[in-house]
Amino acid sequence: MGDVNEEKPKKYPNLRAPRGMEDVLPHQWHLWRRLEEVAREIFELSGYHEVRTPVFEDTRLFVRGIGDTTDIVEKEMYTFADGEGSSITLRPENTAGVMRAYVEYELYKTQKFQKLYYIGAQFRKERPQAGRLRQFHQMGIEAVGSMDPLADVETISVATQVYDRLCLADYDVKLNTIGCEECRPPYRKVLKDKLARYKKDLCKLCLARIGRNVFRVLDCKEDGCREIARKMPAIYDYLCKGCKDHFEVVKEALSDINIHYDLDPFLARGLDYYTKTVYEIILPSLGARSAICAGGRYDNLISEIGGPPTGAVGFAMGMESSMLALERAYQDKVPVDEGEPLTQVYLVSIGENTHRECFKIAQRLRAQGISCDLDYEDRSPKAQMRTANKRRARRVIVIGPDELAQGQVKLKDMETGKEKLLTEDQIAVYSQVDAANWD
Ligand code: ATP
Ligand code: MG
Repeated sequence: MGDVNEEKPKKYPNLRAPRGMEDVLPHQWHLWRRLEEVAREIFELSGYHEVRTPVFEDTRLFVRGIGDTTDIVEKEMYTFADGEGSSITLRPENTAGVMRAYVEYELYKTQKFQKLYYIGAQFRKERPQAGRLRQFHQMGIEAVGSMDPLADVETISVATQVYDRLCLADYDVKLNTIGCEECRPPYRKVLKDKLARYKKDLCKLCLARIGRNVFRVLDCKEDGCREIARKMPAIYDYLCKGCKDHFEVVKEALSDINIHYDLDPFLARGLDYYTKTVYEIILPSLGARSAICAGGRYDNLISEIGGPPTGAVGFAMGMESSMLALERAYQDKVPVDEGEPLTQVYLVSIGENTHRECFKIAQRLRAQGISCDLDYEDRSPKAQMRTANKRRARRVIVIGPDELAQGQVKLKDMETGKEKLLTEDQIAVYSQVDAANWD
């Protein structure tokens, strides 16, 4: 009898995941896991080590690290007062956090050159739109402590190896250099002067960008601005010797290892800290938001956050956009989840007191590495057998009153229908040998 004083369940409003945030449901895990496993394998093959940094950081890390003229810092960050007088921000990207750890733990003291990687959730309060989430995931590598252009090339190669291993064929590598503090000012001036003529045709945002971060105009997604950007001179004529030489080596070394790339003189990055090499991997069939991976060199970030002057280069792969690319590429060519995980053995209990016995045996089998499961819904033996079939169990263990009384269990091979009475100690062995050899 139910308790008469039992409270009626409260009615909640329709609870849903917050806007721009998604769940990954069981049937989607197969591909997610594959993406992550392949990435880890490739990252580690090239000597990158995993680091995990907190999901939120001191706000000053991003406001300094990213610079404050970017879309992210100006309007996309989730920033909170932590109640103890500090301001904290959910990380909008992971590079700054990894560099903070590199500086805080003085990793450079043991070894200046470090190869690090991360996988995790990032948060940006973006305008809700196709392909953009407010919580999304990135996997990235950072080669820290080197100015060698071959480090840039290595990161590009690691990214393409991940996609190659995943059999994603139609991606393009877009490559550019954005120079350094020495060569950027004259180029900035030329751009400002030339763009001034087109003021009436630029979007509102780009009008503001002319004053603050003119390079972002080149990268604007608005059609009108793109057309104007195409009329601007490329940076290549303004590069200093160091940047020019660096870029030459990058291009040659990419060709040495047969990585095809397209030069895109208007490729700029959304984060202010980039220098020299920048790149994107795009899948044109994804449409407006076609970038699945973005990276580049950032030689000033570490000194900006209090570390020694240290060159570094890395990329961030968007996991959701990469997933989208994989889903398109595979369509129904690759096994997707069958829903329920496969079970080697299903335990069926018949009658009183057998449920606990099944439970005990299941624990034992699992400890021996045999996947198994049992019923937790008090269902009939017939319904339990149906579940065993649905789960495609190879074997079923039946415990009824007779078996219980004799201290035995019945093992049934689902393919041949063969049955055998066993003691508890024999179960693990017999569960795994071919039924033909049971006698
Ligand atoms: P921009 O906004 O300047 O075009 P971005 O924000 O797309 O650049 P990064 O910040 O370098 O680029 O992010 C790298 C990759 O991470 C992107 O190419 C994309 O695949 C993924 N990504 C970035 N922001 C989001 C988001 N809000 N939702 C889903 N994926 C994202
Ligand atoms: Mg962005």
